[in-house]
Amino acid sequence: MRVAVFSAKSYVREFLDPANAEFGHELVYFEPSLDCATVPLAAGFPAVCVFVNDRLDRAVLERLAEGGTRLVALRSAGFNNVDLVAAAELGITITRVPAYSPYAIAEHTVGLILALNRGIHRAFARVRDRNFALGGLLGFDLHGRTVGIVGTGAIGSALARILTGFGCNLLAYDKHENPDCVLAGVKYMELNELFAASDIISLHCPLTPETFHLIDAEALEQMKPGVMLINTSRGALIDTQAVIDALKNGRVGYLGLDVYEEEAGLFSEDLSDEIVLDDVLMRLLTFPNVIVTAHQAYFTSDALRTIAEVTLANVSAFERSEKSGNEVGLERIRS
Ligand code: NAD
Repeated sequence: MRVAVFSAKSYVREFLDPANAEFGHELVYFEPSLDCATVPLAAGFPAVCVFVNDRLDRAVLERLAEGGTRLVALRSAGFNNVDLVAAAELGITITRVPAYSPYAIAEHTVGLILALNRGIHRAFARVRDRNFALGGLLGFDLHGRTVGIVGTGAIGSALARILTGFGCNLLAYDKHENPDCVLAGVKYMELNELFAASDIISLHCPLTPETFHLIDAEALEQMKPGVMLINTSRGALIDTQAVIDALKNGRVGYLGLDVYEEEAGLFSEDLSDEIVLDDVLMRLLTFPNVIVTAHQAYFTSDALRTIAEVTLANVSAFERSEKSGNEVGLERIRS
């Protein structure tokens, strides 16, 4: 099948090309992300292949449908960037790659927790400048601390398993209890109870209209003073301005972000020679107790290999008019 691949960085091609030896699709790579301006590039392609910061709103989907596109193959697990109602109305099938490597994201989450706690980012810079002083680097034992996990699907439950090894007390909030987590001793509770009881809170639920700004000023006020907040899920789960206020008044003691609500056009790009106009992101980067990574939690060779294989298998199944099981239907926004 002819597939227009958007947001095609070199590392995307590096994994899609060898995987495609088995599938034989005609992959045409476009480095820009998909949006209203770039959608004409997809004209005549029955399938397009996109990532997290490609924009699949109604206007883009209408242009895709006019150009003959019938399949949008996401290279991601999340699908918050797609207007599923518009896709269904236009007869465009959406597929995704669920759970390609929950370990990659869970392990990056733990990396952020450890780095923030022990000030590893600051220690690295200090020691290179021959500053061997320890002031400001005082951490705490993770053993015995309480971690609240919001969303215990593939990634949240992988995180729970890792943190069990650290000897943490684990709390969770989810619309559906995960029996594996219950067996592992995770205690489910209401969100406000989790906020009040956790030393560390980590977000692993999808971004939906219901979870948009789940962490706002009111939620932050319910948390322990000095709480560590980690978001490796989707940026808009957090009201960034509210969290900046909470960092200023000390309610939030540590913040680890792999995602940011306005990350499109910034993350994954080298802007080191540019003036970045996003004042909110720039303010975040001034705090010593904040670490921001640019949506890299998924970025392991294992994950990229699986993403490539499953994405291309999804395209093949569609071409054969078969179900891959990875279709994203309207039930997803109702569940
Ligand atoms: P999953 O579907 O396995 O788990 C999501 C869990 O969230 C489910 O248990 C679901 O019941 C729960 N949930 C849904 N709505 C909720 C709500 N309102 N409140 C609390 N819980 C709710 O998904 P996953 O594979 O674990 O991925 C989770 C998220 O991680 C994805 O939606 C995506 O946004 C993000 N993600 C980020 C990266 C990255 O590189 N940073 C990579 C992959 C996925």
